[in-house]
Amino acid sequence: MQVVILGSGSPLPDPERAGPSTLVRTSAGDFLVDCGRGVLLRAAAAHSGPGAFRAVLLTHLHSDHTTDLNDVITTRWATSFSPNPLTVIGPAGTGALVTATEAMLDQDIGYRLAHHADLGWWPGTLVREVTDGVVLEEGTVRITSAPTDHAPVRPTVGFRIEEAGRSVVVAGDTVPCGGLDRLCSGADVLVHTVVRRDQIQAIGLPRLLDVLDYHSSVQDAARTASRAGVTTLVLTHMVPPPRPGAEQEWVDLARAEFDGEIIVAADLSTVDVAL
Ligand SMILES: [Zn+2]
Repeated sequence: MQVVILGSGSPLPDPERAGPSTLVRTSAGDFLVDCGRGVLLRAAAAHSGPGAFRAVLLTHLHSDHTTDLNDVITTRWATSFSPNPLTVIGPAGTGALVTATEAMLDQDIGYRLAHHADLGWWPGTLVREVTDGVVLEEGTVRITSAPTDHAPVRPTVGFRIEEAGRSVVVAGDTVPCGGLDRLCSGADVLVHTVVRRDQIQAIGLPRLLDVLDYHSSVQDAARTASRAGVTTLVLTHMVPPPRPGAEQEWVDLARAEFDGEIIVAADLSTVDVAL
């Protein structure tokens, strides 16, 4: 398996960081977890793309994690040579989001159907709303979900993708919780969104202080990884983003709580998980 951080950014536009998105490559195909701003640009850089996505997994429906779902749906459809429905798996509300996204695309779909004689089908989506348990099994690949805690955003889930006894967890946005601990138990890789509590408190803007309520700090994520016996912790969706050259500060904060490998993600950071 291979994990590629397609977007290591957050809602704050950043010229160096696309929006939250992680690609997990398996023998059953590429799984895209969340689809933030610029996801297909980074997928192209990773030699993947919407036609290669076995499924899109959404951890929650905050806009920074879903904003380019429309691009994934449109580009997969408009570059297909036969009907190729996109599987979208996420928490309750995912179906409504997909329906609304397709409605938004209605005019574009009409233009392209009218123009291309060899494009005779609408974009198709297969939606599955999930909470806790097995989400997908295909060959040696198994995906499970568990509820996370990003209140007042409800419901939210994390995903564990396993192949041949190895495992990758993508937590999404969450504070430490039992569901996440269960999902992470013994995982090889944990991709976790984090914020810097000290820096956000120093900035002191009320809108920014609010994000402390429902995200894990670097230390929180490191403690989760430590409790679960994770091998590699990947910090992503960093708020505020590390100044260039300051990544080691983030490692040091996590190191105080976690003995394993720590990676401060940049876009296209890659972790190989030997099978
Ligand atoms: Zn969120």
